[in-house]
Formats: sequence, structure tokens, C-alpha cells
Amino acid sequence: MLVDTAIWHDQLTAAERGELARSGGSVSQPHPDLLVVGGGIAGVATAAACHQARLGTVQLIEAGHLGSGATGGATGLLTPEIHEWSDPEPFVDLARASLARWHELEQTWPGGLGLVDVDWIGLSPDPSGLAPHQSPAVEWLDPSQVAELIPGLSLPMAGARIHHQGRVNPLRSVARLSATLPDVSTGVAATAVTVRGDRVVSVDTTAGPIQPGAVVFATGLPPTLDGLDLSLPWERVKGHLLVTEPTPVHLPGIVAPVATQLEDRRLLVGGTFDMGDESPAVRPEIIDSILAGLYATLPQLRGLRADYQWCCFRPRHPDGMPVIDRLPGLRNAWLTSGHFRTGILNAPFTAQALARWISSDEPPAEASTWSSDRFAGRGLHG
Ligand SMILES: Cc1cc2nc3c(=O)[nH]c(=O)nc-3n(C[C@H](O)[C@H](O)[C@H](O)COP(=O)(O)OP(=O)(O)OC[C@H]3O[C@@H](n4cnc5c(N)ncnc54)[C@H](O)[C@@H]3O)c2cc1C
Repeated sequence: MLVDTAIWHDQLTAAERGELARSGGSVSQPHPDLLVVGGGIAGVATAAACHQARLGTVQLIEAGHLGSGATGGATGLLTPEIHEWSDPEPFVDLARASLARWHELEQTWPGGLGLVDVDWIGLSPDPSGLAPHQSPAVEWLDPSQVAELIPGLSLPMAGARIHHQGRVNPLRSVARLSATLPDVSTGVAATAVTVRGDRVVSVDTTAGPIQPGAVVFATGLPPTLDGLDLSLPWERVKGHLLVTEPTPVHLPGIVAPVATQLEDRRLLVGGTFDMGDESPAVRPEIIDSILAGLYATLPQLRGLRADYQWCCFRPRHPDGMPVIDRLPGLRNAWLTSGHFRTGILNAPFTAQALARWISSDEPPAEASTWSSDRFAGRGLHG
């Protein structure tokens, strides 16, 4: 897998690692009330929300191991506020509500989800490089304040600080969410669906057919399955990340675009957007350029090695926004896809919205924003 060299797996306990590969190859519940296809953060969070809402038996199937798609390679940052600089209001609302949900789950979920409360600090060599942002959440920092927080910067930089953002080890969160679910099967792929009238009546899998009452596809990109008439445009955007060896340098949380301090004083760096690169391989020249950028900003780190390096693909629809919708023409099938660069952040709210929709049969108020209709008439890819 692309993401198997990420640091996240090494940070887990043996029990959490075991959770990610649960019930390999067999399905315990062939007639569930709800089938969730896809064991990334979106699928596991949705299955957990539906189980918690007592929507009946929930079977989750995942082709690889839990988190083996984009989820296991993500940076794991939960930073809704910065999207006010770049994204439409409904998206910012979704992201804020989802961080609030992360906090609720952290408090109420057995053992928590591993949420770490951190500040986000954005740096710019030019103070006007940070566009005006009216939210009271932003605290502006002049270069002397930045220098006090982050000694050793090669250039004086202004900054913006936003308190109480978050980060997670995405695999830990997936493992903790999954641990409460009775029926999780890894190593099982959906291959085809049978539709009768306006209902999915059966889903063929590599472990035999499943006849669900309802189904949610949380497959990262929209699923391509025999019998499912679905043609949404999508692309994948590759990104590289690295984690350094432990360093004596202390960073005050997430310092964008420099690095995020992790456990053991390691630095998580990168998150490149390698447009058009479809190769699953890590490119050493990109890792070198990420390190070169780090050394240029913090010269005392020169020579610091990367202990972990990996890449993965962000699932994206052309407008960069997710789909959270009932499948066109089907009463008992839903889809969430294209979470691009914020699928970890937005998973808990997405899951809650889907659970409410499935239980009430009524779309939530915000559903039209994330509808697949917006791509009507568009081609399949990009
Ligand atoms: C470099 C990088 C950095 C990122 N950083 C962040 C970040 O800091 N914060 C953030 O919020 N997001 C971040 N993201 C984005 C985030 O990783 C994704 O948006 C998110 O993981 C998508 O989750 P998902 O569950 O929808 O998809 P996935 O994690 O891809 O899960 C889909 C799963 O479905 C399974 N599947 C597919 N087809 C089938 C089938 N037919 N049968 C059974 N199973 C199937 C796949 O095996 C896969 O495990 C980053 C992404 C990248 C690449």
C-alpha cells in the first residue's frame, strides 16, 4: 500500500493495529440493516454514527485494511478556521461543525479518539501575504512575536495564530471508532450491485453476496461497480509527506507552511500537491525538496534526516468539495466521496449527517450544497 510507510502505524498499540485488520476476508453479517462500503475515516465514522444512533445491524467492508486509502496517509490536521481564507461559507460551516463534533467524540467515545488540541500558526515573510480575515479566532503576530515563539527563523516573518485547532493520528481514530462496531470485515471488496426498482437489493463482494436494508458507499472516490449507474467526475491529487528524526527544536503546534510538531519531538513536514503525478511511488527528489524548504526556513535543522516518507492520493471532485448525497434514483443508497484535503476533519459531521438522513429518510438542511446533481452532464474524470 502507498501509505504503509507513514508514521501512523508505528504509533499504534498492538490492539489498535489488530483492529485495522479485523475479520480478514469474511463477512459476519450478510443481511445487515446497513452496509458501509469503505473503511477509511468516512466509512468508519459513518458506520460508528449509525451504530450509535441504533439504526440496526451495521456491517462495514473494506477491500484492504482499515485506513489503507487516503486516510492512512493524511497529515491529520483539523484546522477549519484557515478555510475562511480559501473556501465558500457552507464549507467553513461544515468544517467548524465537524471540529466541534471531533471534540464531542473525544470526550464521549470510549478511550477518546486521540484528538490533540493544538494552535495553528501561519507564517508569511510579507505581512500582507496573509489576507484579511475578520474572524475573532485569528490573532495577528508581528515579526518579533513570531521570533519569540519560533526562534531561529532565517527571515523575519509576520504571522497569524488560531488557537484550539486539532490534529490526530488518523489510523488511531479509525481504530478507536471501529472498536465499538460488532461487524467489521477487512480484505473484502464490493464488486457489483443488484438494483431492483429504486433499491439496491444485493451487493456482491469477494466474500459472497450481502443483502442490506440500506448501503453507504464511502469509497474515497465514487465507486465503480457493475450494476451501479454512477458517473461523477473525479481526479486524484498526490501528496508527499515526511516525518523527521526527533529534534531538539520545539514548535508551538502546527506552523504553516513549515512543519507540525509530533510526539517524540519529530516534525511532520510536507503535504505537496503533485498535480498529474499518477505514480504510486515516493519520489526522492520531492522528499529532498521538502527537506530543503525546512532547512531554508530553520537553518539549525540542516542535516536533520527523514525517518518516514510516504505519499498518497487525495480523492477530489472538480470543485474540490465533497459529495454527501443519496444516490440518484435509489431510495436506500448513499454516497460520500471526494473529501480531497479535509476528509479527516470533515468525517464526523459527514457521518452524523448521513446517519440522520438514513434514520429520518429526510435530507438534512445543508444536503443540497453537497449534492451530486452539481455535476449533472459533466464527463467522468476531471
Ligand atoms: C498528503 C495528504 C495530506 C492530507 N492531510 C489532511 C489533513 O491534514 N486533514 C484532513 O482532514 N484531510 C487530509 N487529507 C485528506 C484525507 O486523507 C482524505 O480526504 C480522507 O482520508 C478521505 O477519507 P475517505 O474515507 O473518504 O477515503 P479513503 O481513506 O480513501 O477510504 C476509502 C476506502 O474505501 C475502500 N474501498 C474502495 N473501494 C472499495 C470497494 N469496492 N470495496 C471495499 N472497499 C473499498 C478503500 O480501500 C479505502 O480504504 C490529506 C490527504 C493527503 C493525500
